[in-house]
Order: sequence, then structure tokens, then C-alpha cells
Amino acid sequence: MPRSEQLSAQIMVSEKNPFDLSMRDASGKYRLAFEEPMTFGQGATEETQNLMRTMMVAHLLGPKLPEKISTNFDFHFPELLGALYEYYGKKKPRILKLDEQINPEVRDQEMIQERYDQATSHSGGLDSAYRIAELLAQGKKPLAVHLKNLNAKGNYRESIASEEQCQKWKVPYLSVRLRNNSGSSGFDTMRTRDLLLALTVAVAAAPNQIKRVLIEGGMGTDPSQYHFSEQIDVWVWFNKLLKDTGMDVEVVGIDPGDIETIGEIIGLEKKLGISILPMVQNCFSASFQLPNNRRKWEIETPSIAKQSSEHWCGSCLKCRRMTLGRIYYGDPRFKNISKREIAYFVQDTYRWMKLYPHNADLLSESFLSHLAALGNRSAIGGLRLRKKTPR
Ligand SMILES: [Zn+2]
Repeated sequence: MPRSEQLSAQIMVSEKNPFDLSMRDASGKYRLAFEEPMTFGQGATEETQNLMRTMMVAHLLGPKLPEKISTNFDFHFPELLGALYEYYGKKKPRILKLDEQINPEVRDQEMIQERYDQATSHSGGLDSAYRIAELLAQGKKPLAVHLKNLNAKGNYRESIASEEQCQKWKVPYLSVRLRNNSGSSGFDTMRTRDLLLALTVAVAAAPNQIKRVLIEGGMGTDPSQYHFSEQIDVWVWFNKLLKDTGMDVEVVGIDPGDIETIGEIIGLEKKLGISILPMVQNCFSASFQLPNNRRKWEIETPSIAKQSSEHWCGSCLKCRRMTLGRIYYGDPRFKNISKREIAYFVQDTYRWMKLYPHNADLLSESFLSHLAALGNRSAIGGLRLRKKTPR
């Protein structure tokens, strides 16, 4: 394959949907499209709608960063691609026009719906649940926006859980469905993923005249550790760009706190009188594996299993994180858990870390220190932590 061919891509917008993009390059065909709501883009200025399309292009190009791209529509905000390419040490791409051009439909810029001060990206997982609970505790009602199919896995369960949560907490909920065949996945998807997510939430909530968009934070400055869409400087620049398009919105990253977050949520549940933790969905196990993984805990730690949600497998990183936080911070639903069960959980988690070092690599300092403290606490209770368990 000639080099020039390999490093070029064609990007086409659909005639019917201004947010339906297909890309073709030497390796195949890709697609990224907003399919629901069918009015996506309404309430945003024409310039913001153009920026949204450029952001989608950036997400499609992210994995390979081809040198030359050709589009069938007028390309706006090439500076976004320039900044992305430069971040990865590449020259900005050449942007050419295909012979046949389309004028993408501009969706109704004047559309106005019920007003909310802020919108929060809502995956249905722990950190997004925490963001909502915090706002509720401050007497604020955000619009929760769920972006379906952003990630490669777990989309169906996340979507159901996120909607159920918002119903239960009486929080307005908006689901945006992406057709995501972008080829952008794995760790490298973070090159553009969070920017795409934030802009999607801002555009989806544009008719609601929001002033702030909340997403998960955890951004930084070191280019060897943080991708483009996790860069603090990029976010400052992006917020300015948003304002230039006529959208008076600021995107704010709320730092996730890991195990401490569970403690905070337990406090917020009490304060608000609502149930949050049992509704959180972020188990890593596939649906068909979950009952199997869970069985072990039902036998060894029956009270913990009984008081854990149907989304809980017990064994994956996220479920262990949940159990650890709930025990450590004294979730009232866990008040009758025996010391033996707690000791089993601690021991088993150390065993699991040894057995699966790739999981241990993902563990935060917060996880390790809470686990160690819990181990000490249960050891003081006179338990022989080193006792071998059958199985
Ligand atoms: Zn799990």
C-alpha cells in the first residue's frame, strides 16, 4: 500500500443528518453518528453545531492522525485538529475538499426548553452519581445527560441503570444515542473522548440554556501521563473556543475521589434521605459472568452479598472498590456484617492482587491505604488474617 494512501482519510457527512459522519481510509470504513434525539444540535448556534462536527471528526481521526483529509462539507475550526496533532508531535493535517459537496443542515438555533443551570454527564457509575447527589444536597437540580455507546462495553446496563437512578432521584434525564463505529477505543480513545463527551452534553442541553457542564475531572499537565482531552491547558482553551461559538457555557471537571467518594455518598444518602449506592452500576464483569463471580461471595460472605446490588459481582476492581468503601465508611446497610466476612474480603482482595497484577496496577493509593487500614482494623479484632480459606 503506498504511503500517501495510508495516511489520508475521506470524511463524509450524511445528507439527512448533519451529525452523521463516515470516514474511509486505507484500513476500512468507520462511522460516528448522533442518532437520538433526532433534534440533536437544536438550541446551539450554527457555529457551535460546526464545532460539534469538527469534534466528531477529531474523534474519528484520533487513533491514526492521517496527514491528509478530504471532506464533503465546509470544514470549520481546523485549529482543533491542529492542536490535537501538535500534541502528538505531528504536523497539522492538510484539509482538502471532495468534488461533491454537501451543505449540512443547520438545526433550529432558537429552540428553547425548560431552563436548568447545569448539565452533568451521567454514566450511571459512582462518580457521576456522586456529582448529582452533591448538587441535590446544595438544593440544585441538574439535567443529567447520558451518552449511550461512548465506550466499547457495558453500554446497555449503564443506560438502564442511569435512567432508573434519575427517575428515583427525580432528576431530569436526557439520553443521547451515539452510533459509535469510530475505531477509537482502549486507552488511546482518551486522546479525544472527554472533549467529545463534554461538547455533546453542552450541545444536547443547549435548549435548556445551561451555564455549566460537569464531567469527571482527574486532568493534569504532564504530556507523558495525560492525553490531549485530559490536559488542563486544552480545557482552558476549549472553554474559550466554546464561548467564541456563542455558547455561554463553562465545562468543569469534578475530580473523582475513589474510596473517599463512597464515604461521601453514604453521608449524602443520610442527608437527602435517598438511596444511591445500591443503584450504582459500574461492574466490569460481563452480564453472563456476573452470577458466577457472585456465587463465591454468596457462600463466603453471605451478608455482604445480600446487601449488595444486583449489579455487583464482588470480584472485579469496581465491585471491590464499592465493598471496601462501604465497609470502611460504615454503610448502615452493612452494620450486621461479621468480622469474619470482612477479614475474608480483605484477604481475598490481597490474594486477587497477587494473582492478577494487571488489576493491581490500576489500583489507586486510596484503595491500597483503605484496604491496609481495614486489614489492621480487623486484625485488632483478634482474627487470624493469614488463615487459609478453602477454595
Ligand atoms: Zn463487578
